[in-house]
Amino acid sequence: MGWSIALHGGAGDIPLTLPPERRLPREAALRHCLELGVAALKAHRPPLDVVELVVRELENSPYFNAGRGSVLTTNGTVEMEACIMDGNTQKCGAVSGLSTVVNAISLARLVMEKTPHIYLGFDGAEAFAREQGVETVDARHFITPENIERLKQAKKANRVQIDYTQPIKGQTPQETSSTTGDSQIGTVGCVAVDGNGNLAAATSTGGLVNKMVGRIGDTPIIGAGTYANPFCAVSATGKGESIIRATIARDVAALMEYKGLSLKEAAAYVIESVPKGNAGLIAVSATGEVTMPFNTTGMFRACATEDGYSEIGIWN
Ligand code: ASP
Repeated sequence: MGWSIALHGGAGDIPLTLPPERRLPREAALRHCLELGVAALKAHRPPLDVVELVVRELENSPYFNAGRGSVLTTNGTVEMEACIMDGNTQKCGAVSGLSTVVNAISLARLVMEKTPHIYLGFDGAEAFAREQGVETVDARHFITPENIERLKQAKKANRVQIDYTQPIKGQTPQETSSTTGDSQIGTVGCVAVDGNGNLAAATSTGGLVNKMVGRIGDTPIIGAGTYANPFCAVSATGKGESIIRATIARDVAALMEYKGLSLKEAAAYVIESVPKGNAGLIAVSATGEVTMPFNTTGMFRACATEDGYSEIGIWN
């Protein structure tokens, strides 16, 4: 029994040829966020605070598809979504369709703590953000040149894509060098448990490049992209529609609860049952076990445990 923490910056088809200028800043961001989370756990901050803190930091980084780095809808707008859940109480909060809120994860927490509801979306969520006085900015703040370029690429190929999809067929590496082929970023998430077995999970995303306006993915859906109960805390990433169909996060918890599987066994079973190339997850158990399986080429990820183990990785 001891504390542990894991975080991710998205799973997908991340080419092994990812150049250092694309890889290193993301690894540095993961390291920084891991250190932040570890320090908070060592300072005995509740896991719910820890996952919110870490996800806020990841949202503020332009290197990941959440907050500042959110990808664009087919109309060139940003619609961010996020979810947070406490394991012991199973209290949870979720938001979708945000276009001006700097930290979607903190608004999700306010939905959990300040409303009788679980999930607010679009105009109602934006109005709630103003009522609560959370930091908002002009929607244009989130629209980065990289994401305008990604949207162009996706439209050209007539597809909805996860943000690190490989270069579009027929294009030379040069043509894609600053866009989809090597500009890997992703949805973010964090799970944590303290020495007393208190668990929490948080996930935040801009969704998929060229998604329809109004599309809701797995991230804010309790049991799909995010879930925590007294057994484990899970945050998933990958193709949202596949993750929703498979209720990935809840299935990990259910296999532990109903079938007595260990965290690692349950997570591996769930990831194997999702079509290859579609998903990854991070999870911690009440006893401090940690696992980060994926069936994509890679997943930006990091973890640490109280006994001194720590890892930062992208590929297998
Ligand atoms: N799961 C997210 C979505 O479909 C995307 C991702 O994980 O990168 O909205």
